[in-house]
Amino acid sequence: MKQNEKIRCEIVAKWSVDPNTSLKQLARKCNKNYYTVRRVVLRLKKDRSIQDKPRTGRPKGLIDENLEKRIVHIIHRHSSMSIRDIAKKADTSHVMVVKIKKLNNIRTFKKKKAPKRSEKQNFKSITLSRKLYEQKSAKKKVCVVMDDETCLKMHLATLPGLQYYSIAPGCDLEESQKTVVFTKFGEKILIWQAICQCGKRSTPFFTFL
Ligand SMILES: [Zn+2]
Repeated sequence: MKQNEKIRCEIVAKWSVDPNTSLKQLARKCNKNYYTVRRVVLRLKKDRSIQDKPRTGRPKGLIDENLEKRIVHIIHRHSSMSIRDIAKKADTSHVMVVKIKKLNNIRTFKKKKAPKRSEKQNFKSITLSRKLYEQKSAKKKVCVVMDDETCLKMHLATLPGLQYYSIAPGCDLEESQKTVVFTKFGEKILIWQAICQCGKRSTPFFTFL
């Protein structure tokens, strides 16, 4: 229901309970403006309708309803398809796909990354962690130590991710300013560190690879 039809409904509901109340009292009861209430009541007395009159002009929404249905269907079938691929498949533009997605409240989310584990591994991880928890050492309040290592490229400029440069029209920059130079097997460094449950940590260990 439209917002203004909803307001009319509220007012009419209060008014129908006691049609003899004054408009001022009714306005106070509905917490609405006196003139709004008066307009609604007069309207109801006149043509017994609380719905909006049909409007002139271009109707809201898409002209091609079949296209809308087709695109929604494609999204249901292939949830991972890109907007441009959907547009190609439905023989329309990607802007139209975006519009239809918005009209139908279809939203897109980033996929989460998760370790690849089988059902058996998933189940095992639960029982193993329980076993670890129930071990005598866990009850004696002995610390649990975690460790992990990672590899990094030595030259920070070659880390993955986009890098930009800005330039005014007609100017030119040196090639070194416009490119990121990287060797395929550049120097790498391995970092290892252990951390304890209680907050203590080892000195980090570095080595070149
Ligand atoms: Zn500890």
